[in-house]
Amino acid sequence: MSEQASVLVTGGASGIGLALVEALLGEGWRVIVADVAPAAMEAARAHLSAHGDRVRYDTFDVTDEAAVVTAVAAIEREFGPLRGVVNSAGIARDIPALETSAELFRKILDINLIGTFLVAREAAKAMVANGGGSIVNIASISGQRGNLGRVAYGSSKAGVIQLTRVMAVELATAGVRVNAIAPGPVETPLLKELLTPETRAAWMQVVPMRRPGAPEEMAGTVSFLLDPKKSGFITGQTIGVDGGFGAGGLINP
Ligand code: NAD
Repeated sequence: MSEQASVLVTGGASGIGLALVEALLGEGWRVIVADVAPAAMEAARAHLSAHGDRVRYDTFDVTDEAAVVTAVAAIEREFGPLRGVVNSAGIARDIPALETSAELFRKILDINLIGTFLVAREAAKAMVANGGGSIVNIASISGQRGNLGRVAYGSSKAGVIQLTRVMAVELATAGVRVNAIAPGPVETPLLKELLTPETRAAWMQVVPMRRPGAPEEMAGTVSFLLDPKKSGFITGQTIGVDGGFGAGGLINP
């Protein structure tokens, strides 16, 4: 990857996002870490200090349209042309449908779906002006299958998968590719908070590899999708990175 190429990673201060930031820095990208949580951002800044001015830190909320517009414009002006975006900012809740309030449903849609849209939209405008780029959205297997407790979260991620298709089609001739990955359970702070010992055990019964993924195991597929030399004819796709969950039916007891 050229030294000038820069990639914005939302939710970049924790979990999958942080692992992607480290991997992309290692591949020569300049990286913008964006997150809403100041404490996680400070920890990420300390963790990544060896990378100096190849990393930029922007604290904003992906649901705040004005803040997203301002942040992307400032990145373009002060850090160089955006060639990549990874939308990893997100929240999850396990809660039965009959107990899910409209307020919680709206909050999850707002962050996971509309936040992803706003960042993708603003970044895509910049990429069109820059002659092209690649957007990678972090969806979920819960956007493809009916996992219990995930009525709001799963709907938000199904929306991300559809957003990925529509934006890919609209932006194809402008040189901007839009793809997604659909991770299975990945060992991050989010997963630790989400799963009880019982639900964790239940998940491990249906993932053929019988283990959660590591955040670092998301990096290869995301890096591939960002790199036009490797994936230049791929757009609108959602790739499962899920230990075989999406392929599974009856699996070994
Ligand atoms: P995480 O909680 O470790 O990291 C998510 C980050 O997003 C946090 O740093 C958080 O501060 C940030 N964030 C939350 N709301 C934000 C907002 N409004 N604006 C900006 N930043 C915000 O979680 P993770 O497990 O790394 O999840 C990353 C993505 O991967 C999420 O979209 C999640 O839905 C998805 N995912 C995770 C798993 C899993 O098992 N961990 C599985 C499938 C998909």
